[in-house]
Amino acid sequence: MKKHLKHQIFSIISEEADKLGQDCYVIGGFVRDIILKRNSKDIDVVTLGSGIDLAKTVANHIGPKTPVSIFKNFGTAMLKYKGLEIEFVGARKESYEKNSRKPHVEDGTLEDDQKRRDFTINALAICLNNKRFGEMVDPFDGVTDLKKRIIRTPLDPVITFSDDPLRMMRAIRFSTQLNFIIEEKTLAAISSNKDRIKIVSKERIMDELNKIILSDKPSKGFKLLDKTGLLEIIFPELFAMKGREEIDGIGHKDNFLHTLEVLDRIVPNTDNLWLRWSALLHDIAKPKTKRFVPKQGWTFHAHNFVGAKMIPGLFRQMKLPLNEKMKYVQKMVSLHMRPIVLSEEEVTDSAVRRLLFEAGDDIDDLMTLCEADITSKNTDKVKRYMKNFQLVREKLKDLEERDHIRNFQPPVTGEEIMEVFGLSPSREVGILKSAIKDAILDGEIRNDYDEAFAFLKKKAAELGLKPLSNQSE
Ligand code: ATP
Ligand code: MG
Repeated sequence: MKKHLKHQIFSIISEEADKLGQDCYVIGGFVRDIILKRNSKDIDVVTLGSGIDLAKTVANHIGPKTPVSIFKNFGTAMLKYKGLEIEFVGARKESYEKNSRKPHVEDGTLEDDQKRRDFTINALAICLNNKRFGEMVDPFDGVTDLKKRIIRTPLDPVITFSDDPLRMMRAIRFSTQLNFIIEEKTLAAISSNKDRIKIVSKERIMDELNKIILSDKPSKGFKLLDKTGLLEIIFPELFAMKGREEIDGIGHKDNFLHTLEVLDRIVPNTDNLWLRWSALLHDIAKPKTKRFVPKQGWTFHAHNFVGAKMIPGLFRQMKLPLNEKMKYVQKMVSLHMRPIVLSEEEVTDSAVRRLLFEAGDDIDDLMTLCEADITSKNTDKVKRYMKNFQLVREKLKDLEERDHIRNFQPPVTGEEIMEVFGLSPSREVGILKSAIKDAILDGEIRNDYDEAFAFLKKKAAELGLKPLSNQSE
């Protein structure tokens, strides 16, 4: 392992630990990622003795002004060095109480410390002291599990998960991120402990869920969440999308599986977490809006709008941000069918202009979402859609260059309309304003002040309005 510890920081820590006479190891995710050849910038160092003292002497060695963040309550200290974040902690032993995932902590041996770690692959330690520099300490066969790509807890999984139920989310997250298999007993223990997830904060759960969503194949994680029974507890709205129903021999697709397919399909085209969330939520109102209409089949009328309305409540419940990110997801959900409808019907300039006007700068993301949403098993249909879609894209580009509709503001404002016709805020002002907007979007007039003003005068006359005399020119 020596060759992986060439970074200067390791020899500094080694020297300082020896001076203090403390055994010292690099442990956890960093060691795992060396073997997996993944890049990681967080280094956890565990020492037999005070982690804070070791951090201070290391900082001093680097330079007298090197800042150290000390968390006295946790007995940990952190410092940054050449792009790395290094956390120091004394080896500890943990015991848990039933209603909290915060353990009672006391000093312990290295093995005590490794036992309290979530998975064998996260419990590996490499010694940093000079005499044993680079020596791997692996009491639970973590290296073998890494080679076999297995997630397994060091101790009895039932106890491990009951002690800290967040570990269930972490198991599924690592399995998804690293494409590992969760060992059978470990998986069974997640199912039997699923209700314990209720003592974990929503924020923590969402951190893990976001990591699943940002992985290369999020469907794997969601299927595991479902299989273990966690999905129903942490995300009942998604759980409600499961299954197919059939009436008079007519079925509909399983909206849960469809959603996962859309999410997987969008992955290669975007790293934007919120676009991926939009894929996950685009059909979220399908269970709510589902109807069987005789002779017509299954309908999900207005599921895009109902879905958009559900987003703020969902985000609040899940402790996701209630800011422009949420608004963006709402917009994506509400518009997600528009480009498809366009490519089914004739792709007119006016329809494309309207789409561009409503989507604004998010138009490209919307197109990415829609493309991922085309998942039919009927390959002819998919081909036809994709071809029409290309047409929509070309038209969008063409119209954008010609008309600059994206984010456009009508050239004549409401204030100006009121001023010219001596109106107070009223229905008429609204009618005139949207008439101008529609005329531009329909291509009747150009997106230009003079044309819009002339059009305004004509429209106002139809309503029996006359410009005030001093503004008649
Ligand atoms: P990543 O940084 O990619 O999320 P990681 O394994 O480094 O993965 P961290 O959350 O940074 O995860 O934790 C560092 C180490 O601390 C882990 O490798 C593991 O040994 C231990 N650990 C973290 N959370 C828990 C937990 N809930 N229960 C037990 N051990 C944990
Ligand atoms: Mg880490």
